[in-house]
Amino acid sequence: MKSPFTTNGREIREEFHKNSKFFSVPSVVNNETLESANSIQYEGRKLMNGSINQYHQEDKAVSIERIPASEVYAVLGTGPEGLSRQEAEERLHLFGSNAIREVGGTSLLFKFLANFIHLMAILLWIAGLVALVAQMPQLAVSIWTVNLINGAFSFWQEYKAEKATEAMRRLLPVYARVLRDGEMQRIQAQELVPGDVLLLAEGDRISADARLVEDAELRVDQSTLTGESLQVRKTSDATKTKSPTRSEVQNIVFTGTSVVSGAGKAVVFATGMETEFGKIARFTQSLGGEASPLQKEMQRVTKLVTAIAVSIGFAFFLLAVVLAGVDLAESFIFGMGMIVAFVPEGLLPTVTLSLAMGVQRMAKRNALIKRLSSVETLGSTSVICTDKTGTLTQNEMTVRNIWLAGRSLSVTGTGYAPEGQILFAGRSLAVSEESDLCRLLLAAGLCNNARLLPPDSETPRWTILGDPTEGALLVLVQKAGLDLDSLRQKIPRLRELPFESRRRRMSTIHRADRSSMAVYVKGAPREVLGRSTRVFMNGSEEPLPGPLREQIMRANDAYARGGLRVLAVAQRTIVESSSGPGLRLSEYTPETVERELTFLGLIAMMDPPRPEVSEAVEKCHRAGIRIIMITGDYGLTGESIARRIGIIREDDSKVLSGADLDAMDDETLKEALQGEVLFARAAPEHKLRIVTALQSMGHVVAVTGDGVNDAPALKKADIGVAMGISGTDVAREASDMILIDDNFASIVNAIEEGRAVYANIKKFTAYIFTSNTPEAVPFILFALSRARIPLALNVMHILAVDLGTDLAPALALGAEPPEPGLMENPPRSLKEHVITRSLLLRAYLWLGPLQSLAVMAAFYFQYWTHGYWGQWLNLPSSGTLYESATAMALACVVTTQIGNLFAQRTERSSVFRIGLFGNRLVWIGIVSELMIIFMVVYVPPLQDIVGTAAFSPGNWLFLFMWAPLLFIADECRKALLRTWERKKLYGGNA
Ligand code: ATP
Repeated sequence: MKSPFTTNGREIREEFHKNSKFFSVPSVVNNETLESANSIQYEGRKLMNGSINQYHQEDKAVSIERIPASEVYAVLGTGPEGLSRQEAEERLHLFGSNAIREVGGTSLLFKFLANFIHLMAILLWIAGLVALVAQMPQLAVSIWTVNLINGAFSFWQEYKAEKATEAMRRLLPVYARVLRDGEMQRIQAQELVPGDVLLLAEGDRISADARLVEDAELRVDQSTLTGESLQVRKTSDATKTKSPTRSEVQNIVFTGTSVVSGAGKAVVFATGMETEFGKIARFTQSLGGEASPLQKEMQRVTKLVTAIAVSIGFAFFLLAVVLAGVDLAESFIFGMGMIVAFVPEGLLPTVTLSLAMGVQRMAKRNALIKRLSSVETLGSTSVICTDKTGTLTQNEMTVRNIWLAGRSLSVTGTGYAPEGQILFAGRSLAVSEESDLCRLLLAAGLCNNARLLPPDSETPRWTILGDPTEGALLVLVQKAGLDLDSLRQKIPRLRELPFESRRRRMSTIHRADRSSMAVYVKGAPREVLGRSTRVFMNGSEEPLPGPLREQIMRANDAYARGGLRVLAVAQRTIVESSSGPGLRLSEYTPETVERELTFLGLIAMMDPPRPEVSEAVEKCHRAGIRIIMITGDYGLTGESIARRIGIIREDDSKVLSGADLDAMDDETLKEALQGEVLFARAAPEHKLRIVTALQSMGHVVAVTGDGVNDAPALKKADIGVAMGISGTDVAREASDMILIDDNFASIVNAIEEGRAVYANIKKFTAYIFTSNTPEAVPFILFALSRARIPLALNVMHILAVDLGTDLAPALALGAEPPEPGLMENPPRSLKEHVITRSLLLRAYLWLGPLQSLAVMAAFYFQYWTHGYWGQWLNLPSSGTLYESATAMALACVVTTQIGNLFAQRTERSSVFRIGLFGNRLVWIGIVSELMIIFMVVYVPPLQDIVGTAAFSPGNWLFLFMWAPLLFIADECRKALLRTWERKKLYGGNA
């Protein structure tokens, strides 16, 4: 990364002229001095160059935390309006992007070398050495060459896999909210520069070191920096203490830490590697990381198979020498052949690449996976716990109804365009004639942090910045024609008590006039009503009688039953006594402020379900995956939406509230989780409890979350799913998967891909294992016949298949699209292994023997058509005829592998259902293997290395005749299997 301080002389000079208050340059500024950027003194440099740096101004040490908040802007060359766009650009140019270099990690060279020193590679090095000692230099060189090619190919696969996961990181940039030119903007965190005014809210990850200038109940989690998971209260007050430790500095927020609650405003003073975090260079993102269970299993399997193959090879070597009386050199080749035939050399890197390709495919379907292991876990997910807003619904709210003084008003218009009317009994209402409505809208508009953005050249429709719930309220206010800007000036906001999902309310405190303050509250109806003692009706304030409370809740329930999200709005006036305000502003807390409220009305908004969700839900039902909605919203609203999209189908399904859950013990909860259930008004800790209970019931649980408090549940779940658009940075960090589009359907797609990846790994494992049989059979026949049946395939031939012709087709199987019916089966158990008995039986005892038959037939075909008709034993075992016969055997392995390739594309359904051309890579694989085999048979230097001789081109007809064998045989097996399964399912009536 470009150092913030190394820049060329001209830039510095220009910067100096533009921004002279920042720089003190040496008195003689010439190009020589400017060559060395370090000789330039930048007043802010020291400030930005240390932890809580001492910044020097005319030799007087001043530190940023000890400056009063009011002076911070001036010191950092900015103002309450933030930087101008141009200034920000210039500073970005000067300081470089706000990026932390990733340090550590294994070097590329080491990773490359690792591919040549693992167990299998070492075995091959030794084998080559033995061949050399046994005076077979050609074989030695060939084995080593193959080992090198294999190592390089494995490295390429790993590298590609790593790049694929790394790319995920770039796909989802981190954002920060800043003030620039006096307007709130969402910019990429990389673009932050010193002097930017950062706006902080709950769940934000802080992306630069910044000095607080305003705070509202701000609490920060600094554990990434200090290791202590305590929440630290931050304020904007200047510190008086001298040299406090890092974590003790109250008025500075650090890169890499996150806002747990509250809000604040801070001015950036250090970015990138100049931040505290940059200096300790601990980069928390852990993509890729440790080997996944599947990779571990594959490592185990490879080791085990290698050990078995080595023992068999050694035993057969002894048998050949002792029993068959074969000479030492031939016995050695024989032993080597057995080892090389059975060891799945290319398997592990192919698994890794296949997982990485799965990750890429998931990304294309809007799900970003952070760890390869999540791909497999997704495949066995049995329960999805999902929240509602934004995931199942569109998170685009439109106010539909207003309850006001006993009347239900309706609102017309769609989306965020402020075009529509407020109607009562078919008549349009003007705000001016309705003081009740005016009050309600005023409160809803001022207790609001969203911004309504008009269409522009980039987005041709009205959009919002901020919380969609609040955005919908702004649209409503505009529809009524209220001028919020002038109201904001007339009744300026003094303080905010931010929305919290646990409290379900938000309040703002405003200066109403010299002696009083106005409090505006909005939140969940029951919660707001519970704190209201009075009601504003027909232009005056009255006590709130019990029957009216019930009437309000009935109206709320009626809206909720229609799937509407309801907010209540209230207000309070705080009159300050003549002796001055009773409380300091910072002492206003939800407890002291949100009470004795005057109820103003209800606002009900529609958030329609996403159109694709119903189908995704149906897919889950068919795939045996349960969906449990855990919403913060009201029970009736949640239930209505859940029914509409098919999550709840039974009449007697349970709707449990957070309070119900609190009253339950774990056993009762587990019982409730057996049936159809929905959780409403649930807080994040309830989510954690539900996930834990489901896991203890043996489920593999995926859970969605967006808030900072969802982090524990996201971490606890087998798959934590965070939202890319609406989620907080903290939730995203705690998750395993991020949905780019926040859409439930993307979770289901990812599960499907997860299942497909697992199935694909099984496919190419079976593909590779199948060809091991015809590779081993010639050696067995050779030994059993006491060398009277010539060896149909030698070690080099086997390597040419395993590390040559088989590679591209195996990769193609790794990229197979999900098989039909994949989502019709129940989830796989996490305990299930890739290499099952049925896989081994199918490879070694079904397809393998058939392939061996074809290979031996091709071998004999060459002899029989050259004057040895009908002769089985004592055929020439050297010379051109022998070499061309081995070439026939080798080519037959390749042509039959084409049939095998198609056979492996499905496990139980007919390949014709997915179409022969569904996977382009399969055809590329076939072309590649045919090209290799043609070269090995007909290109002289390759003939010499592998030990082949050309056979008549007409023989290819015979070889291709065998190509469909494995495919047809396996189609028959699949048809029988399906009939048997149907019979099992429907008794004898299938
Ligand atoms: P889910 O958890 O399914 O996404 P949700 O988004 O409705 O549901 P929360 O955001 O926790 O859950 O909201 C809970 C309740 O708090 C809402 O039903 C609403 O009444 C109230 N609420 C939501 N947003 C705000 C807000 N910005 N200001 C005040 N109250 C709000």
